[in-house]
Amino acid sequence: MIYRNPGSSFRNLVAGTDVKIPLANGKYVTGINFDNAATTPPLSAVIREITQFAPWYASVHRGKGYKSIVCSDLYEQGREVVREFVNADKRDVVIFTKNTTESINMLAYALAAEKEQVVLTTDMEHLANDMPWRDKFTVDYIALTKAGRLSLRSLESKLQAYEGRVKLVAVTGASNVTGYINPIHKIARLTHQYGARIFVDGAQWVPHISVNMRPPDSVEHIDYLAFSGHKMYAPFGTGVLIGPKATFDNAIPVYQGGGAVGLVSQQSIEWDDPPAKCEAGTPNMMGVLALITAIETLSKLNLNSIHSYEQRLIDYAISGLLTIPGITLYSIRDGTEARVSLVSFSLEGLHHSQIAEILSQKAGIAVRNGLFCAHPYVEKLLRLSDEEIKYYQTHDDKKLPGLVRISFGIYNTISEIEVFLDLLSHIASQRQYYANKYSYVLEHNRPGGDGKRADFYC
Ligand code: PLP
Repeated sequence: MIYRNPGSSFRNLVAGTDVKIPLANGKYVTGINFDNAATTPPLSAVIREITQFAPWYASVHRGKGYKSIVCSDLYEQGREVVREFVNADKRDVVIFTKNTTESINMLAYALAAEKEQVVLTTDMEHLANDMPWRDKFTVDYIALTKAGRLSLRSLESKLQAYEGRVKLVAVTGASNVTGYINPIHKIARLTHQYGARIFVDGAQWVPHISVNMRPPDSVEHIDYLAFSGHKMYAPFGTGVLIGPKATFDNAIPVYQGGGAVGLVSQQSIEWDDPPAKCEAGTPNMMGVLALITAIETLSKLNLNSIHSYEQRLIDYAISGLLTIPGITLYSIRDGTEARVSLVSFSLEGLHHSQIAEILSQKAGIAVRNGLFCAHPYVEKLLRLSDEEIKYYQTHDDKKLPGLVRISFGIYNTISEIEVFLDLLSHIASQRQYYANKYSYVLEHNRPGGDGKRADFYC
């Protein structure tokens, strides 16, 4: 395949893109990272800012020293950078967390009230937007269409059936398995029409597309939003939860301790106002600096340009995958809905962990395989029965089902995709050979492990 413009003008903005890694044959190649949906490498600007700011690092909200004041101001400004990035309302609080998972757990605790209240989540969620609701609410799942997309018909019929008892619709902005982008503002409209609120898991959405929460008086407004810095080129452990301050005013926070309170006696607690109330302990100032640097860089590059570049990558990859015999793709391309830059597939005759291992050992290509912490979604895409799932749950030594996922970031290139497609075509043409050669992977597919349950890892 020949492509006239194989490079990425974004590539030199990201750290580590030219690092050489060893192959099984002892040779070294420049690594190809197609696992950006799990985590992205840092932007060089992020590393630079962290290094330059390090001499100024001091405690946040805990001192009158000059450096403490500088750090506290920067940390608080970070909330405004985030607010502007997603156009959150001024009555919303921006809470800094560790990641999306922590943000959703925090929201679930804050909203938890009576069990009779219903949270509608969906059949396509990451476990982070499924499990935290289960023990606190009555949970029901919005169904999928045959193509694996979210069914808005199912959403509406559930909203009707629960007759006003739905408190929240918790839905992902984009799937980490199929890459499908959900029509969030349409979902918000429906949700609000039935008196409920909407939470959007932005982990796979916010890094790839321009997101706008819209004003609260718009029926298409997003009430709550969460996302992770490490999926948008800002490691150092910062996530975000945004929502109306009133939600957190009366809720008892999950984490309690210093920084979240006014005056405390052994008999009583005077809570601080949100967001401080929700951020007990020493804040992750460097993580926030990393996040705001990434936001500023991505905004300057323009999220629309990023989205269209990544669309070219994913379109090219999907077109190539469709030409390889034995490949099944788990999302269809029908031109009706947008997607982010990832796709999952299987190759007949080879287990997903074998494919991932071969790509890594032969060409230094990092992909993800397994259930991607979206177990129910992958189970549905693979049409696994309840009996089959039970069987896998109770037989530790069985090769778990799953898929292979490739996911792109701004620095990936068409040339890298060509390397991947060439190797995958070769593997597909020599399936039996590779199945035998890599049979040990199925027994010992966790590095240093006992071979059990390795594919459950997200
Ligand atoms: N939601 C989605 C859609 C994800 O893909 C992920 C991670 O892959 C998460 C939530 C959890 O993100 P984190 O691990 O940063 O908490």
